[in-house]
Amino acid sequence: MSGNTPQSPAEILLSAAVKSVGKREFLKAYEKLFASKHSVEGKSQRTKAEVPAESQCCARIKGDRVGIKVGRYVLFEALQCPRREVSNDLHLCPIHTNQMNKFGELAFGRFAEELSEDQKKVFGEL
Ligand SMILES: [Zn+2]
Repeated sequence: MSGNTPQSPAEILLSAAVKSVGKREFLKAYEKLFASKHSVEGKSQRTKAEVPAESQCCARIKGDRVGIKVGRYVLFEALQCPRREVSNDLHLCPIHTNQMNKFGELAFGRFAEELSEDQKKVFGEL
């Protein structure tokens, strides 16, 4: 896109805002208002309401970056998979059942299990 293409009103407003506060400030504010908050709350609220805890998949999944650095690794939040389990013996959702069948293990183990050395590089010990 060249700088001379006509801009929408929103684009004009946004670029004016960027100009007046600076790009860094703008992005910080933007992230605060829309990006992180939105996705995190929207996701967890919706899925929690749908699947009762006792029939939730037991796999551990990678959540949001926690922003803590350990050595050269940035840590992520360890979450329980929000999907519904489909088997009474494995207690896993279709995706994680599939992962089990394909690889013989879960990428991040089970939520209730202790972290392995490799998983600590992802989640740390918080
Ligand atoms: Zn799952």
